Amino acid sequence: MKIVLSETLSYCFGVRKTLELTDRLLADRPDRTYYMLGEIVHNEHVVEALKAKGLRIVQTLEDVPPGGVVILQSHGSTRKRYRELEARGLEYVDATCPMVRIIHDRIREVEAQGRTPVVIGQVGHEEVQGIVGQVARALVVKTPDEVTPELFEGVRSAGVVAQSTFIEEDARRIVERIRALVPDVVFHDTICQPTKIRQREVEVHTRRADWVIVIGSRHSANTMHLFNIARGINPRTHLIDKPESVEDIAIPAEATVFIASGASTPGELIVEVVRRLEARDAAPDRKDGAA
Ligand code: SF4
Repeated sequence: MKIVLSETLSYCFGVRKTLELTDRLLADRPDRTYYMLGEIVHNEHVVEALKAKGLRIVQTLEDVPPGGVVILQSHGSTRKRYRELEARGLEYVDATCPMVRIIHDRIREVEAQGRTPVVIGQVGHEEVQGIVGQVARALVVKTPDEVTPELFEGVRSAGVVAQSTFIEEDARRIVERIRALVPDVVFHDTICQPTKIRQREVEVHTRRADWVIVIGSRHSANTMHLFNIARGINPRTHLIDKPESVEDIAIPAEATVFIASGASTPGELIVEVVRRLEARDAAPDRKDGAA
């Protein structure tokens, strides 16, 4: 078996920065209690490890007692959340990724220019909520089919931004549809560079591989996008979020396997998947197609 690893595995710089910051806070200030609204990153293994070190996960700011310190995630927060933090007198550490801050700036500019703000992204995703929450009102679309004359009725000029982890090609198609309905459209391509590099690598290597394994959580938007890109090219693409699951994938001994991961997948998981594949390959009773 030939194993080909993606050049961009494990954490993107935004996730790494947030995790390092959180680790440092937990280690340096054990006298404080740190809270996070929802998961710090979309990966259960990482969340459990941080919880074991003392991080508390809560769903609303009402669950944070006075004196608690809130860590704001890399995927950004609404303006309302900052106001609420201040109103409650809660201390916070802002770990919003710089690339997400750029999206916030762009959408505020769009609003200031009098254009209708449009977000290409998944409704309900925290990052999209954070982007939408920068302006009074924004349209959110996830697919070209959602770009309808009804939704864009009366819109004469629009400014479009994209969720940082969106698929480039899909965003381009959506913008084309918007341009067909709205006379004046400005598109700010805010898909972040780490995402673009990962997506392009997956596209190139999947074409050359017999099997593809994407390691990451189903709750992670960027992982699901990588999986969908690869699956669209090669149906022998599998998504796993724990190393044991690789044992369920039957791969012939002579196959080339490409391994990619989401931006919030810990390196240890990837190392363990590779170790298991290599161990299987080296097994004396290895037969073609054996799982
Ligand atoms: S995926 Fe991009 S925007 Fe999101 S945390 Fe990573 S670098 Fe930042």
